[in-house]
Amino acid sequence: MECSVENLRFFNTLTRKKEKFVPLEKRKVKMYTCGPTVYDFAHVGNFRTFVFQDLLRRWLEYRGFKVAQVMNITDVDDRTIQGSRKENIPIKQYTERYKQAFFEDLEALNIKRVEHYPKATEHIPDMIILIKKLIEKGYAYRGEDGSIYYDISKFKDYGKLSKIKIEELRPGARVKVDEYGKEEAYDFALWKAWDEEDGDVFWETEIGKGRPGWHIECSTMAMKYLGETLDIHSGGVDLIFPHHENEIAQSEAATGKEFVRCWLHSEHLLVEGRRMAKRFGNFFTLRDLTAKGYDPKAVRYLLLSKHYRQQFNFTFEGLKAAKSAVDRLTNFAEKLLEAKGEGYGEKIKGLVNTVRKNFEEAMDDDLNISVTLASLFDFVREVNKLIDENSLSKEEAEKVYDLIMEFDRVLGVIGEVMKEEKLPREAEELIRRREEARKAENWKTADKIREQLKAMGVILEDTPQGVKWKIERKG
Ligand SMILES: [Zn+2]
Repeated sequence: MECSVENLRFFNTLTRKKEKFVPLEKRKVKMYTCGPTVYDFAHVGNFRTFVFQDLLRRWLEYRGFKVAQVMNITDVDDRTIQGSRKENIPIKQYTERYKQAFFEDLEALNIKRVEHYPKATEHIPDMIILIKKLIEKGYAYRGEDGSIYYDISKFKDYGKLSKIKIEELRPGARVKVDEYGKEEAYDFALWKAWDEEDGDVFWETEIGKGRPGWHIECSTMAMKYLGETLDIHSGGVDLIFPHHENEIAQSEAATGKEFVRCWLHSEHLLVEGRRMAKRFGNFFTLRDLTAKGYDPKAVRYLLLSKHYRQQFNFTFEGLKAAKSAVDRLTNFAEKLLEAKGEGYGEKIKGLVNTVRKNFEEAMDDDLNISVTLASLFDFVREVNKLIDENSLSKEEAEKVYDLIMEFDRVLGVIGEVMKEEKLPREAEELIRRREEARKAENWKTADKIREQLKAMGVILEDTPQGVKWKIERKG
């Protein structure tokens, strides 16, 4: 598709404004998304962010961009160390379990694979290079505990993303943990000298025995795979401070260049008015929901159906409504494949053009999904009426079907819809006779019937659950 990006706008957290999106290189987007910390199963609040990032990626692709995306895997930090120590197993074994689960969940939610999934533990030497550079340039120093800290007073733009003011810095105040509040905006750890709580998790390096801080991991992997300036960096709003603020401080101090041109942040998913989070104990994993019989596609739909910058409440009624929305779209696609009415003429072209225009305009406007979906369902209602009146021809229905599939490459909730296959009655009879022959261990007859069916285009497969059939597609 043409790269028509004239009206494409995103809300940039850095400027707190909607801005026209212009990547550094024409038609290419370099995008970094903070991935999971693999210390537990991700919950649907986490997946709201990943689904949003997937929608963003799919929209950029719809608009003709080639996307190079990195999603890092944080497999060493405070929480992964605590978790593996608690279970008394090596950190690698501990994180591997959750990493695999994470990828299974991504697939279930139909989140597209990105180009790179770098693991923090595989990039320690790159992190050392970056930390050494920050020391050389005077932005970092070693504390009495042997850890290396970033001196935030040296970076004049510190606070530009989160808009915090650090005029009253307590000299020498430091924070060693990965996560902390704005009231603790002190010098933060780039490299944490080993202490007993780290157990056997450490690297012997030229800057000492220890492990990296969480923030340096992302700066390192982002610049390694995408270069010194990225077009887009995204994550949940809870990452704005300190994580993303610190990423900017580290990266820009090291390179002297702008680190990220456009920052996109998604809002929290709430449960009864409170942010869904492990620490509040009010979370559901995707596994919890599928175990209750909910369809992952409905979960995906629910997560993407509200604009990403709005908080919204997770409820089971909402999930049920999402399921019926997905079913309505799927049934619509199926009905289109069956339609063979009179023909509606020019009017259908008008409907198609309108829905496409509305869909694109809304998505270009900072992924305004509520407007997008509203206009899509208006269209579905209109066309359903035509199908019911038998006034949509096969050709027209095919055109509409193609359009719906094009939209679904962005939404990712319908998937492939097949015409329901019906077995000819004589084939049914043959399958029955073959079953009888098999019961009587009359293999010759059974094989002969199988050949007969094959000639009719019916392929049989004997499975432990019984015989299955499919119709061979011609052409
Ligand atoms: Zn990150």
